[in-house]
Order: sequence, then structure tokens, then C-alpha cells
Amino acid sequence: MNEENCGRFFNKRINRGWIHVCPDYSTAINCPVCRLFGASGKESNFPSRLIVRDAFLAKDWEDRWRAGEEITEAKIEVGIDRVTSQANPRTNERVVAGAEFKFEIIYNVEDLKQWEDDIKNLLTAMALLEDSYLGGSGSRGYGKVKFSFETFEFRSADYYRTGEEKEKIAIPVGKKQVIDVLKDFDGLFSGVKEKLEAG
Ligand SMILES: [Zn+2]
Repeated sequence: MNEENCGRFFNKRINRGWIHVCPDYSTAINCPVCRLFGASGKESNFPSRLIVRDAFLAKDWEDRWRAGEEITEAKIEVGIDRVTSQANPRTNERVVAGAEFKFEIIYNVEDLKQWEDDIKNLLTAMALLEDSYLGGSGSRGYGKVKFSFETFEFRSADYYRTGEEKEKIAIPVGKKQVIDVLKDFDGLFSGVKEKLEAG
């Protein structure tokens, strides 16, 4: 992170924690975090380049649920007072392990010099998330996720003007893991790069 642009990285206090937000448009556009996820600064805002759609249950899992299979479970936990040993049992409902959800992420290409870094940073963040957790209570087992990609699709500005199929590039990748997408990045996106560089 560029100290001159953003000062201390975690620079804004929200409730009990600190987050990072660049203070204005000109610093956000040069910040690999804010230009991807957006920033709500004091002076001006920087809109996110990413759109993350809602994730819905995958078709076969929805079918299993409609057929009567339980796809959530009640996990029983107990909190124990470290001094008195008093037990406080609690029950949390959570999705069963292995459940699959479909998701879609859209990235808006604004700067031809930044899109590759932005996408690589996003994929790297997703790879890190796989070894961390999504949501709360991850330190006691919740929120373990694994991403796999089916298709990448690039749509040029001309696609939106003309609707011509040739203005789209579809890159089907089967069920490719995040780390494998990063490994094959240059090969997978060479066609996109050529198209963008050709204008
Ligand atoms: Zn920033």
C-alpha cells in the first residue's frame, strides 16, 4: 500500500474495528483496494468496479431441498464461563457442508492499465478467503468456502452498442479452481487482452 496516498492503511474506525477507505477520488483510483471495492470518503466517493450478485442455491441442491432433504442443520455449541464454569448452551442454524451456490461477479473495465492487476488481486483475495472464512464464527468452523469458475465472459463496449455476438469473448473453463485460474491467467485472458488493446 502506498503510504503517501493513503497514510495508515486501516484509517477509519467503524464501531470497534478499523477499516481502510481512501479519502477521495484521486487517492482511491491509485489504490488497489479502493478502486476495486469502492470508497466512501469525506471529500468524494469512488464507485466500486465490482458488482457482486446474490448467490443462489445451485439447481441440484435446490432439487434435493424440494425432494425433502435437509440442507440446513442445527449446530449445538456451548459457551463456558472461564471463572465459574457455568455452561451456556446455544444452537445455531447453518447450511450443511458441501452445499453449492451459484454466484456472478461483474468487473467494469475502466482503465486498460489496471484491469489485469485488479482481476489478479480479486482472485488472490478469493484464494486467501478459501483459507480463511466467509461471515462470522470462522474460528469455530463456520464459513469454509471453495470457489470454482465455470465461465468467464468479456463484453466489449461495441457489444452494448450493436449486440453483435462477435463482440463477446466466452472463456469456458469447466470447474476451475481459483488458484488454477491465477496459474493460467495469461493464457486464459490473452484474447481479452488483444481485444482491449485493439480498442
Ligand atoms: Zn484505498
